[in-house]
Amino acid sequence: MKHAQPSGALALLTLSLAAPIGAEQTTTLAIPTLAPVAYQAPAGVSHDFLMGRFSPATHPNFVRLSEQHSSRSNMYLQKPAYAAFKAMYAAAQKEGIRLVIRSAARGFSAQRSIWEGKWTGKRKVGGALNIHKKIPDPVRRARKILEYSSMPGSSRHHWGTEVDLNAFNNDWFASGKGRQLYRWLQQNAARFGFCQPYTAKGGDGRSSGYNEEKWHWSYLPLAGPYTEQAAQQLHNSMIRGFKGAETAEAVNIVGEYVLGIDPRCRLHP
Ligand SMILES: [Zn+2]
Repeated sequence: MKHAQPSGALALLTLSLAAPIGAEQTTTLAIPTLAPVAYQAPAGVSHDFLMGRFSPATHPNFVRLSEQHSSRSNMYLQKPAYAAFKAMYAAAQKEGIRLVIRSAARGFSAQRSIWEGKWTGKRKVGGALNIHKKIPDPVRRARKILEYSSMPGSSRHHWGTEVDLNAFNNDWFASGKGRQLYRWLQQNAARFGFCQPYTAKGGDGRSSGYNEEKWHWSYLPLAGPYTEQAAQQLHNSMIRGFKGAETAEAVNIVGEYVLGIDPRCRLHP
C-alpha cells in the first residue's frame, strides 16, 4: 500500500500499520520529508506469525472449535476462518453432507513433532516406519516426507486458515459419500472463501509441491494475503530449528512447497 500526502516540508504519511493479524488499522504519522515518497507499508503479519512461532491456543485472533465441527477437542482456527467454515458447514448439512474438521491450526512445535517423528523414523511415512534407514540421504528423505508433510515454519496450517476435512486419504474422496462431499466442496467452497491449494500435479495443474490433498481447504481472504507475503519475505534460510532443516535450501522449501499451490488459491498467480 502506498500513500503519500506531502504538506510542505513536513509530509504526513498515512501508513497502514499492521494489526496483529490480517485486519489493518490506519494511523497517520508525521514524518519529516521534503518530497512525496512512496512508502511501502509494513506487511500484514510478522515473520514469527507466518512461521507459526506462537500458540494458537493463546493467540487472541484464534478460537477453539466446537466438537460439533471437529473430530477431537483442542483445535483452533482464526475467528473469520471459523465463521466462514460454520456457514459452509450449515449449507452442506442442508444437503445431507457432514463436514468434519480433522486438523486445523498447528503451531511450529506441533509441526516439528510431526516432522521430526517422520525424520527419525518413529512416525510412519508412506505407511512404514524407519524412513531414516530406508532413505539415509537427507535431501531424498526430506522430499519423501514432503509428499504430504510440511517442514516446521513452512506450513499453511500455522496460519489458522487451513482445515483438513473428513479423511486424510484421497481414495476416500473417490467414491460414495466421500465423492459426494468432494463434489459439493468443488462446487460450493468458493462461495464461503475456501479453495483447495493442493490439487493434482501435472497437466495444466501444479508443477511442484506437496501431493494432491483432497481434504485440505484454505480460507483465502486471509491465506491469500499471507501467501503473497510469504512469497516476498520468506526465504529457505529462515526455515530452521528442527532435525533435517539443513535440507530446506536443497528442496527449495519456499519456492517449491510454500508457493507450490494451485494458482486459483493465489491472489497474484
Ligand atoms: Zn492440511
